[in-house]
Amino acid sequence: MSAICKACLQEMGPGKGCTVNEIIFPDRTILKAIPHVDEEKCHDCNVHKGQFHHPGCDMERCPLCGGQLISCGCLSAPVPTDVVTQVTSRF
Ligand SMILES: [Zn+2]
Ligand SMILES: [Zn+2]
Ligand SMILES: [Zn+2]
Repeated sequence: MSAICKACLQEMGPGKGCTVNEIIFPDRTILKAIPHVDEEKCHDCNVHKGQFHHPGCDMERCPLCGGQLISCGCLSAPVPTDVVTQVTSRF
C-alpha cells in the first residue's frame, strides 16, 4: 500500500522528498519547510535526510514555533470571533 502526496502528487516512497517545500500559514506568512534531519529515513513519509516531508507527516517541524507541525496549531485558522462570543454567552 502506498500513499500519494496531495501536495506534490508523488508516491510517498523511500527517498522521494516533497517538492512542495513552503508552508503557508493562515495569516499568509509563507515559510520554508524544515527538511528531515535524521540519518534514518522518516518513519512516517519515508523521506531521506535533507529532503522535505510530505504535508501531514507527523515528523515535520513547524518553521514558525519549532513544534510538531500537525499538532502545534499554527496551521489551523484562528477561531472566528462569533464562535468565541457564542461559547462565552452560554454562561
Ligand atoms: Zn509531497
Ligand atoms: Zn516525514
Ligand atoms: Zn507551529
